[in-house]
Amino acid sequence: MSDSSFIFKHLSDLLAYLELPMDEKYDLTPSFLLQVPLHYAQKIEKNNPLDPLLLQILPLLEEKKQKSGFTKDPVGDINATQEPGILQKYNSRALVISTCACSLHCRFCFRKHFNYESTEALPNRLDRWLGSHPDVHEIIFSGGDPLFTSPSFFKKLTDSVLKHETVKTIRFHSRLPVTDPDRLEPLLPILKTIPLKKNAILVSHVNHAKELDEKSSALYKTLREARFTLLNQSVLLRGINDTVKALVDLSYKLFSQGVLPYYLHQLDKAEGTSHFEVPDSQAIHLLENIRIELPGYLVPRLVREIANEKSKTPLC
Ligand SMILES: *Cc1c(COP(=O)(O)O)cnc(C)c1O
Ligand code: SF4
Repeated sequence: MSDSSFIFKHLSDLLAYLELPMDEKYDLTPSFLLQVPLHYAQKIEKNNPLDPLLLQILPLLEEKKQKSGFTKDPVGDINATQEPGILQKYNSRALVISTCACSLHCRFCFRKHFNYESTEALPNRLDRWLGSHPDVHEIIFSGGDPLFTSPSFFKKLTDSVLKHETVKTIRFHSRLPVTDPDRLEPLLPILKTIPLKKNAILVSHVNHAKELDEKSSALYKTLREARFTLLNQSVLLRGINDTVKALVDLSYKLFSQGVLPYYLHQLDKAEGTSHFEVPDSQAIHLLENIRIELPGYLVPRLVREIANEKSKTPLC
């Protein structure tokens, strides 16, 4: 396991590596498969079944539990689909599902039931769609993980957007800086050549300070030098980051790496994720308390995504 590109796909291997015993709570045959790059596993404390990084990736039998209100399309992605892979919910910006693949499988993922189309035809489709939608000023590449893809496909995809004068901002939503940053390296030459006037933004997805390390720091530094704006979004997760200390530490650690907190999301109610839910009253209380500890620029906006609303909905 010295190979840094190793990816855990079997629970027994992961448990052995983390020196953890098998437990009857764990799901050996999850429908959303276990997938954990070695780089992420290395940040998990050994022999600690409550490690906040472990809890994000460990398949539990609880995921098979049905709970009312938890559905396969919690945020109205189906209704927002304009064309395969192109979603628009909000004025002037559209979101592109560039790939279905992710380096890490997060158990709370809201798109784990998403019906992904093949993305081969996406660059052409996006080009055509933007041609007939000059009011769209920002393209957000999401997924899956839009940076977890081949350089040739990524180049085609970004080129199909950059050529449109009407697009002023290009944004990437990615978890790769903390899950498997080496996998992002081949895309750096392409990211670095995005013209300054296209206002490139990386919104990374980091939920806990322990996810940030020297590699994420080096990567963010490179992107800052390429004049990216660096933001972060997190999901509020029970037992993982639902304390004042965890959220304050996360904000400070992000900023020490040049990243500003953007959103703190209330969980999207995807089927099988109810055990991660933090009640709204507790979420608001946490926000009130971190606001006392942090400078204003390090306080994320606590939001929920409600299907068919015209923006994310602030909770406080
Ligand atoms: C969250 C989201 C966005 C981005 O919203 P911002 O408030 O601009 O960060 C855009 N499109 C879709 C479909 C989204 O779900
Ligand atoms: S990285 Fe994002 S899209 Fe991928 S599994 Fe995690 S939450 Fe879902």
